[in-house]
Amino acid sequence: MLLLLPPTSLAALPRHDPVPGGVAVIDLGPEDHPPAVRYGEKRVLVLPRDGRWYAVVGLGLQEKPGPRTLEVRVEGGTPRRVTFEIGHREYETQRLTLKNRRMVNPYKKDLDRIARERKRILSALRHWQERPLSDLTFFRPAEGPLSSRFGLRRYFNDQPRKPHSGLDIAAPRGTPVVAPLDGTVIEAGDFFFNGRTLFLDHGQGLVTMYCHLEEMSVRPGDRVRAGEPIGRVGSSGRVTGPHLHWSVSLNGVMVNPELFLDAE
Ligand SMILES: [Zn+2]
Repeated sequence: MLLLLPPTSLAALPRHDPVPGGVAVIDLGPEDHPPAVRYGEKRVLVLPRDGRWYAVVGLGLQEKPGPRTLEVRVEGGTPRRVTFEIGHREYETQRLTLKNRRMVNPYKKDLDRIARERKRILSALRHWQERPLSDLTFFRPAEGPLSSRFGLRRYFNDQPRKPHSGLDIAAPRGTPVVAPLDGTVIEAGDFFFNGRTLFLDHGQGLVTMYCHLEEMSVRPGDRVRAGEPIGRVGSSGRVTGPHLHWSVSLNGVMVNPELFLDAE
């Protein structure tokens, strides 16, 4: 069994924060083979640490508090169910003013473009790549103070919009953006709201997104190592100033990126 595990027991896991928009880290116990885990219809990331397996489950902002079940299957074993509880989390409200009103109420011709881009974005974020992961120690993708946190309930020019599904790092234009973890570039584009945007696939449903870039230095198909530059901070798309908007998607839902910076 030990042959399947990394040489040290120090593999980092994100902080366990089982709330809407958070991550549940569930101990599955010792197994000889990686268990296949499902949360509803979705496959779930699993990681070995210290002789045990852990499921790392993304919980969407739309989740409601209450009990949930994971389905765990091990090669040659009987499927079993593991339960956990989603708690309550209240996110703050943020009001932003945009001078470019088209970014708040897009023109009719923009709506087609936005719909097409939404499909590309969702398809990248829901990507599943079968790949063993041994550690989730994240590099910070850009240096700078955290400005808007994940989950803020947003109003643009007093109109309600979707909650903030990433973390904003207020870095000056041109600041290098680096890959937080080894991965593959699976999508890149210049989108109406998100501006110049890159998507990295790290395997097992863990996908990260980098928006409003000034410049992108990698292309779809490129493999990147943790800490390697992928672009520079800018102000393309719907912004009030230069910053990096960074999103982390896990089993198809956006979760709080700070839980990965606090990996332990
Ligand atoms: Zn943002």
